[in-house]
Amino acid sequence: MKTIDDLEVSGKRVLVRADLNVPLDGTRITDDGRIRASVPTLSALLERGAKVIVTAHLGRPKGDPETDKKYSLAPVAARLAELLGKPVAFAADTVGESAKATVAALGDGEIALLENVRFNPAETSKDAVERGKFADELAAFADLFVSDGFGAVHRRHASVYDVAEDLPSAAGYLITKELDVLKRLTENVERPYAVVLGGSKVSDKLAVIDNLLDKADRILIGGGMVFTFLKAQGHEVGKSLLEEDQLETVTGYLERAKDSGVEIVLPVDIVAATAFAADAEHEVVAADAIPADRLGLDIGPESGKLFAAKLAGTKTVFWNGPMGVFEMEAFAGGTRAVAQGLLDSGAFTVVGGGDSAAAVRQLGFVSDDNGHSDEDAFGHISTGGGASLEYLEGKLLPGITVLEG
Ligand code: ADP
Ligand code: MG
Repeated sequence: MKTIDDLEVSGKRVLVRADLNVPLDGTRITDDGRIRASVPTLSALLERGAKVIVTAHLGRPKGDPETDKKYSLAPVAARLAELLGKPVAFAADTVGESAKATVAALGDGEIALLENVRFNPAETSKDAVERGKFADELAAFADLFVSDGFGAVHRRHASVYDVAEDLPSAAGYLITKELDVLKRLTENVERPYAVVLGGSKVSDKLAVIDNLLDKADRILIGGGMVFTFLKAQGHEVGKSLLEEDQLETVTGYLERAKDSGVEIVLPVDIVAATAFAADAEHEVVAADAIPADRLGLDIGPESGKLFAAKLAGTKTVFWNGPMGVFEMEAFAGGTRAVAQGLLDSGAFTVVGGGDSAAAVRQLGFVSDDNGHSDEDAFGHISTGGGASLEYLEGKLLPGITVLEG
């Protein structure tokens, strides 16, 4: 796979697919980790005298920039300019008049960001011809393509996949770094290897367990996923998150784990609340005694201790998905305990998933001050939850294979 170091970029127009999909509260960016992670590639291209055109998505808009303003990348352009220390021209559309004028005005060493690429429905179209046409329009802006949006490489989208077939292409530094890290989780893993899974996208994440049962020594389960496991063991889970149609699959996992000697660690206690609310009444109950009228919003303190103990002595850990609703202080304890356990373990840790990354930052485990927040005690904070999970599932990532092509 070619990297940007293999490209002659001086004076060239370079289209960069970045991942700038950050959480916003109105127009305020609540976690700029992904913008920071895009900086090394962009800075390098600018220093080498390229004209840089950045394309990226934000959320899943249904309408256009006028009707769906909350999906505009405008706040991101402003933050990117601060981080780069130079102006970022912002185009109000993806391939329209504004984009054309903005790109035409770029000088060497200057940068522009195009509006949210998903405002154009062809970006995510299942129809390869439709996608291809849109990719051609994007490609017409540039001489070269650099793929660096790791969080989107598992998507066969126009700006991720099709455009790489139109232009000489290379991987940016974020992609190569993310892949290097993921290789440490799949090739010659240092053992014991533990995986911690949680969060709320339960059915998405159950698939990874299938593959991990052959690879991990220990799987710790928290977050919304727990309740499908507890139910599969015959326990009451009240109004907690539950994937009824996955019960059989989960039962199968538990049996396979037993056969293959993989330890599945489930919480022993649960913080059960009367409602999904920051001020909801709540109490700690045994994991097999959740009251029928309550919902579990975090693993309990005994489980936090248990999980930390199970992480002690491990050499490699992959963590995806918070242990509870960490956004609400009453339900952040489990996530905090696991984060602390990871730090104490000294293991090589990879944290994947947008909310998991936000959790470790928000709970104060990682400082953002040096701009290298992913390189400190936590080993590595991946910018791509879905992408890293699919990689660990053993799936091919279209945005990567097209670069190897
Ligand atoms: P990531 O983005 O790290 O992959 P997810 O998107 O799957 O993680 O899940 C993150 C969300 O899961 C958080 O917003 C958190 O509040 C929620 N969550 C965690 N535990 C529970 C639970 N027990 N019930 C409901 N939601 C939960
Ligand atoms: Mg998420």
